Amino acid sequence: MKNEAATVVKKLLDTPKKILIIPHKNPDGDAMGSCLGLYHYLEQMGHQADVIAPNDYPDFLKWLPGNDQVLIYESQEEVCKEKIAGADLCFTLDFNALNRIGNLEHALNDFQGDYIMIDHHQQPDDYAVVTYSDVTMSSTCEMVFHFIAALGGLDEIRAESATCLYTGIMTDTGSFRFPATTPTTHRVIADLIEKGAENSAIHNRVYDANSPERLQLLGCALSNLVALEEFNTAYITLSAKELEKNHFKKGDTEGFVNYGLSLKGIRFAVIFIENAQEGIVKISLRSKGNFSVNEFARNHFNGGGHINAAGGRSDENMEDTIKKFLSLLPQYKDQLTS
Ligand code: 5GP
Ligand code: MN
Repeated sequence: MKNEAATVVKKLLDTPKKILIIPHKNPDGDAMGSCLGLYHYLEQMGHQADVIAPNDYPDFLKWLPGNDQVLIYESQEEVCKEKIAGADLCFTLDFNALNRIGNLEHALNDFQGDYIMIDHHQQPDDYAVVTYSDVTMSSTCEMVFHFIAALGGLDEIRAESATCLYTGIMTDTGSFRFPATTPTTHRVIADLIEKGAENSAIHNRVYDANSPERLQLLGCALSNLVALEEFNTAYITLSAKELEKNHFKKGDTEGFVNYGLSLKGIRFAVIFIENAQEGIVKISLRSKGNFSVNEFARNHFNGGGHINAAGGRSDENMEDTIKKFLSLLPQYKDQLTS
């Protein structure tokens, strides 16, 4: 983070403040890890912080230290609105535009204070007094670590915070294997372990917490996998019926899209998941190399994200969504095969 930005933040935090911390809708490990990692630090520094998630998140994140303090806007609207009206500062973490927080965006009309954004997605909107945006970063959790370092606060990071930040770096880097994982990422991870993050226990809690239903749903997803070798592309579909049959719970499909990318030679993988409640097909896209799924999702499926990991949505039904997807591939053939 730049020195001038650190100076502004230090000034904003030089007296005890009431602070909101908000992750994106459908928060993942990096979103919840960064919010709770920052939450523990701010509380430690004498501020009164509240994490408000736009909606619920998967059980495999519900052991994170501080989880029981998290407010969910979708089910606790009134208490969230009170917190919003009384807050001095609002950190928005792991997203780049206020339309990524669903209905919570409208509730923030009553917020009178300043925003601070910490995020690693491309093309951030301009709504914060401090925008700490860096698309080269592995994760927002790594950025929160650097943010606290810029404030001179590393000695105040306790085990609770270290555990949350470790978790988000681990999940956003695919356990330290994606290209954004740098020597600095590993140094941060080493520091977090020294500060009390129990690395092996964290991996177990996140990755070895499957239910039999989730593994059966994975079996269904894999049997639906289609490989289009001509385009080095693979896609998976999951219909609402298939989700219901396998007792789908929030978070169960996390990571499924990566199986497409594990096929030899595949550079572009997509999963289409029917969301009957919202009447949409939710899309997750992943790539290897230079093919930008951020651009693809932005241009064709109302989405965005990073070069190699993005999300989007379609308001058409599954069949028409797949037709549209297949009709787009020829124009990307050169990029996907050269
Ligand atoms: P996932 O596929 O795991 O839901 O998301 C992959 C990446 O794309 C994440 O960084 C996520 O924040 C971002 N993303 C997911 N869905 C959307 C969306 O609808 N719009 C935008 N702009 N980004 C998204
Ligand atoms: Mn992230």
